Amino acid sequence: MAEREPVIGIDLGTTNSVVATLQGAAPAVIKSRSGSTLTPSIVALTKTGKTLVGEIAKRQAVTNPESTVYSAKRLIGRKFSAKQTQQAVKNLSYRVETGDHDDIRIRLGDKTLSLPEVSAMVLRELKLDAEAFFGKPVRKAVITVPAYFNDGQRQATKDAGRIAGLEVLRILNEPTAAALAYGFGKNVNGKIAVFDLGGGTFDISVLEVGSGVFDVIATGGDTYLGGEDFDGRVIDWLAADFQKEHSIDLKADRMALQRLKQAAEKAKIELSTARETQLNLPFICTPAGGGGALHLQKTLTREKLEELCADLVARTVTICEQVFAEARVKTIDLKEMILVGGMTRMPRVQDAVKEYFRRDPCRGVHPDEVVALGAAVQADALTNEESDVVLLDVTPQSLGVAIAGGYVRTLIQKNTTVPTSFTEVFNTSRDNQTTVKIMVLQGESDLAHKNELLGEFILTGLRQAKRGEVEVDVTFEINSEGIVSVSARDRETGQQQSIQVTASGGLTEDELKRILDEQADLMLEAKVEEEVKTKQTELKALMKEVTELMPQLTEATRGDEFGQDALRKANKALEVARPAAERGDLVKVTESIDTLTRTISLFKGVLQRIGR
Ligand code: AMP
Repeated sequence: MAEREPVIGIDLGTTNSVVATLQGAAPAVIKSRSGSTLTPSIVALTKTGKTLVGEIAKRQAVTNPESTVYSAKRLIGRKFSAKQTQQAVKNLSYRVETGDHDDIRIRLGDKTLSLPEVSAMVLRELKLDAEAFFGKPVRKAVITVPAYFNDGQRQATKDAGRIAGLEVLRILNEPTAAALAYGFGKNVNGKIAVFDLGGGTFDISVLEVGSGVFDVIATGGDTYLGGEDFDGRVIDWLAADFQKEHSIDLKADRMALQRLKQAAEKAKIELSTARETQLNLPFICTPAGGGGALHLQKTLTREKLEELCADLVARTVTICEQVFAEARVKTIDLKEMILVGGMTRMPRVQDAVKEYFRRDPCRGVHPDEVVALGAAVQADALTNEESDVVLLDVTPQSLGVAIAGGYVRTLIQKNTTVPTSFTEVFNTSRDNQTTVKIMVLQGESDLAHKNELLGEFILTGLRQAKRGEVEVDVTFEINSEGIVSVSARDRETGQQQSIQVTASGGLTEDELKRILDEQADLMLEAKVEEEVKTKQTELKALMKEVTELMPQLTEATRGDEFGQDALRKANKALEVARPAAERGDLVKVTESIDTLTRTISLFKGVLQRIGR
């Protein structure tokens, strides 16, 4: 048998990155060439023009603050003008500039780099570590991203992989990866939750696991909530105090800021085990008016840190509450609770999790490594025909188009299993409207401007006719990596326009509202009656499919608890679907379509798992 090509899983973190592979029967982390399991996600350019990556870049950060790039993940796939970018940039010691398309560029010496180029340097380093381990070239990888990353952030991460010379087999959600690693090789049956608080982002996911099938039920999070925000609170506390005492803004001095940042993170980490710690920064600055160098010396207690960060911890709990309510899952029904990400080592975070979930989190999962291990499991599953891991992931946010009146028509609901596609027929909203503008939105509000604009395009050449006479099919497709494509087709002429959307997420609510108002004439209108009919037909077809699959599943999974559970769910779903299909209430019909689609995915996953 030919030897298999090596494949790797990469957790490309905000703070640190990890690479892993399947070694024998289990996934294991590949150590870097310098012997460490974590590689800082840091890139630097030295004064002599040398590029440094990882630990060596981190070590020189204080003396070279302007040319040391960290936290690239917080900026990747975002727009320069976005409110969140501007917020994030404030605490960075390197220079961030705007590119030609409102994209973010990083200034390093006399060069400007895009974020995918920066992340590619970290990925290339991990690729080299893997190659040293295998003793041969490594080309294929699965790379993880926060579940809550939008389309643009996923695309940009994939681009980073390509620039690093990797074929990205899959962009995988981090919490899903954690669950894969946790469940790998174990006979786990039931619901598990993954609480992932890393350096830059927070994710919470609920999965149904059984017989090697990993079915993500719901996921939620915040891409701007992580360890760096905790560090930021300590930095602000130190800087405010210093300002009061000496009337000097330490944050305006790049080198001082970098030192504050390192000291804040170190103190935060120490306070996970100690009750208090000393922050000691001699010669932090020399006042312009003379008088000698100033030093910063402070004691930080665990209580003070917890007070400074109380609202951050509370936000993670609020997000958990929302996700569990939406998924209609009770925390008591969970079999296991997994903590992921370095920040979950903070005692206050662990306590908050314990209080909310009323259980102790699972021991034996390494919070820094579990995501990369899961990525390695998935990389193997995608390239090894003998693998029996099946993964059903979901889309984290709803997707739709802006329609007349400033509203959104949702085509794909959040938490729909991917890959998926959906087509809906729309009408022109004005007489003689020959052009329509398709604005692709992501988010949960019915009001268009309260969502995020992912992309837009125009379909022209429609026949001049009365309002509502011309019909346009709009199709959304999401692939298994969560990457979105949208197309619009004139039903009469067959003429079509499509885009693979990339986030233009920089717009504020007001800007988006203004654009929508200006372009109101170009919007489409939803076809509700026809839609009800189409959806009723779709629902009936799904009911038929589920009914036909049930005997097959009963036969195949006799005595298997997970199979029986899937059948019970299917019966319940059919009970709800029957009256909905008859009465034609749009909301109920849509809900039943969702439930039955999930049921079919679940059935197929179970059948695939047992080789039928
Ligand atoms: P990750 O993205 O999972 O690598 O998480 C990194 C974040 O976890 C950084 O903000 C670290 O400062 C933080 N972190 C790592 N270890 C600890 C610890 N023992 N206590 C508190 N925070 C930690």
